[in-house]
Amino acid sequence: MIYFDNAATSQKPQFVIDSLVDYYQNDNANVHRGIYELSERATNAYEQARDKVQNFIHAKKREEVLFTRGTTESLNWLASTYGAENIKQGDEILISYMEHHSNIVPWQQLAQRVGANLKYINLKADGTLDLADAEEKMSDRTKIVSVTHASNVLGVVNPIKELAQMAHQHGAIMIADGAQSAPHMVIDVQDMNVDFFTFSGHKMLGPTGIGVLYGKYDVLNKMNPAQFGGEMIELVDLHEATFQPLPWRFEAGTPNIAGAIGLGAAVDYLTNIGMTEVEAYEQSLVSYALPKIKKIPGVTVYGPQDSEHHSGVIAFNLDSVHAHDLATALDQEGIEVRAGHHCTQPLMRYLGIAATVRVSLYIYNTREEIDHFIDIIGKIKEYFNREFA
Ligand code: PMP
Repeated sequence: MIYFDNAATSQKPQFVIDSLVDYYQNDNANVHRGIYELSERATNAYEQARDKVQNFIHAKKREEVLFTRGTTESLNWLASTYGAENIKQGDEILISYMEHHSNIVPWQQLAQRVGANLKYINLKADGTLDLADAEEKMSDRTKIVSVTHASNVLGVVNPIKELAQMAHQHGAIMIADGAQSAPHMVIDVQDMNVDFFTFSGHKMLGPTGIGVLYGKYDVLNKMNPAQFGGEMIELVDLHEATFQPLPWRFEAGTPNIAGAIGLGAAVDYLTNIGMTEVEAYEQSLVSYALPKIKKIPGVTVYGPQDSEHHSGVIAFNLDSVHAHDLATALDQEGIEVRAGHHCTQPLMRYLGIAATVRVSLYIYNTREEIDHFIDIIGKIKEYFNREFA
């Protein structure tokens, strides 16, 4: 089988699977509670995972790393906490036309609730973000700028550092959706100077159901928790309660302990390879694959056309074969790709299409797999042309 759907989720190395089994077999206990050794071991493993994530994204403090269920939950938390506390009627939230639904709908809901306006940054013809339009759409009314670091369709990596600078000049905060960047490149939240950064463990070799919300200490510290209950409290009286300091204040209830440990193992695995090497390897695959895909007669590739500006997500259509038919035919040949709107319906509408096929690459994919994929596409195309001409 050739697995080319890494933007949806990644496969898991044995090392990560072993870390989960090891935790459940040897260290399983609840965290932050027990006075006994087993609970201390579980707590240490859970908190060590936080340190690993802190180093991985170059956060200043470990308290800035909150475990969530994933990018979707992180962004929803932001809308329902920071958003609800800071966005008033007439304020503006600025996102882009290339956002995943999880970076659109929470803001739509918030805007509808408080009477704020949701605005969209245009894209240029090559699918990259129009920074001049971003600048034009920012004003003193802009309170939140939330943009994806890397597109899950266009293969574009956005200039988050520049956007953050612009956002801050207007007094807005900058949120970056790192679901498609954290697995593939060096992440430095301090260098980008983002206020919040979100990502999911399952797209970077880790388990499902675990992700991260990074927030700058001072911003997080002023925010109310998204959820209340055990673990996050200090003292509970009949009518009021006081809360733990960061980061635990945001982690109500028994957390996904195994998930965090598994994510920590994934971080170890990727760090051991080196994120610079990961990025370089994937870039070499893109340089190999993109020209070959573009050479297929009748193909339209979306996003930048040159491999230097295109990450490992390659979305395309074939003029003679519907995206779903192509993906089904590829599946019959043991090649797994995604077809559809990729949770980006506004982007599809912006591009004037209904769906695309999407190949998304990761560290275990090879040139041989790409060669085989190109051969098979040729055969499928021939078949469709013959049968349905
Ligand atoms: N943002 C982007 C850019 C994504 O690609 C995805 C996953 N497809 C998400 C957000 C949502 O991630 P999750 O489903 O892990 O919460």
